[in-house]
Amino acid sequence: MNENSTVRLASVKLLETMSNNLKDKTVKELEQIIAGLGQKKYLAKYIFQFIHAENVTEISQITPLSKAFREKLIKNDYHISQLNILNKLTDKDGTIKYVFGLDNGNRVETVLLLDGKRRTLCVSTQAGCKMGCEFCATGKIKFRRNLSAGEIADQVNIVQKGTGKISNIVYMGMGEPLENYEPVVKSVQILNDPAGRNIGIRHITVSTCGIAPAIKKLAYEKLHPRLAISLNAPTNELRTSLMPINKKYPIARLLEAVRIYQFKVKERVTFEYVMIKGINDSLLHAGQLVKLLRAVKCNVNLIEYNPHGGCKYKGSGRDTISRFAEVIEEAGIENTIRLKKGSSICAACGQLGANLNNISSTGDKHTA
Ligand code: SF4
Repeated sequence: MNENSTVRLASVKLLETMSNNLKDKTVKELEQIIAGLGQKKYLAKYIFQFIHAENVTEISQITPLSKAFREKLIKNDYHISQLNILNKLTDKDGTIKYVFGLDNGNRVETVLLLDGKRRTLCVSTQAGCKMGCEFCATGKIKFRRNLSAGEIADQVNIVQKGTGKISNIVYMGMGEPLENYEPVVKSVQILNDPAGRNIGIRHITVSTCGIAPAIKKLAYEKLHPRLAISLNAPTNELRTSLMPINKKYPIARLLEAVRIYQFKVKERVTFEYVMIKGINDSLLHAGQLVKLLRAVKCNVNLIEYNPHGGCKYKGSGRDTISRFAEVIEEAGIENTIRLKKGSSICAACGQLGANLNNISSTGDKHTA
């Protein structure tokens, strides 16, 4: 057997193994598995609850199931996956970044942001990213693979177990969530399910760089998380220079998809605008942004750019951001200035993955 066929066989095996991972399943899917094994469907709730609320990692620990049935599940290659914490770093502002290990040495980062009672977890959906946004450290990492629904939910399970109840989830970590559509949608269902984490759908935000067809598809799902669009520029020319995806789905197409989502969901959409010094932060840009978003029911998040090693951009600075905010405020567009959080541990927006290659230790590491 040559090297290529060995790799192919390994990937097929991996897919097979993942499909037997009970952590990837919704209650409905578990019911189908259980019925297929000749058991009563109501047992699915116990399995889901033990995995997603009790954090068990062994089928043998799901005690409401009979011993014989637990053994049957194991014999049929069912299992419960778990991410490993490879590293944990804490910023002086309280932000915590987790580095999680996947199979084959792949890693993803997850960030816990604290703001009073609000405990927001920023989860990753892909190891690496294909989108190549110019300002983003993750965009510089080679795309490795999509995360499964269970791996996305597990970031919440593990952080919550270690630190307490997570109040909000934002899909703004490594990767483009809507490029990993099915597992992302399924993970939203899993995290929202009252038998598991029971996180309210209005407390879950999915962010996208602008995959217009997937936004429209999301509008027709049963569950509608909040939607955030990483916009970052008011014109196609500038946006394409910062975000290559804009070539495929230019601003007009993106806004059309947003309008469809809003029509179905009747909720305000958030536009993220990373403020980069001398690139997208002039008063002219602010005026162009007003023109673009005046008719959209939205909130604009202005985020000071967080540089990472080797990047050519700088953050705009507070004064520039405040002047920019005044222009859009005067036009009646709601906006929020987002302060930098976790920048000393490369946990801020656009910095994830910036130093993944330097992490080799296991256990906690704190920077203050
Ligand atoms: S900003 Fe998001 S979509 Fe763009 S490269 Fe970074 S992770 Fe990918």
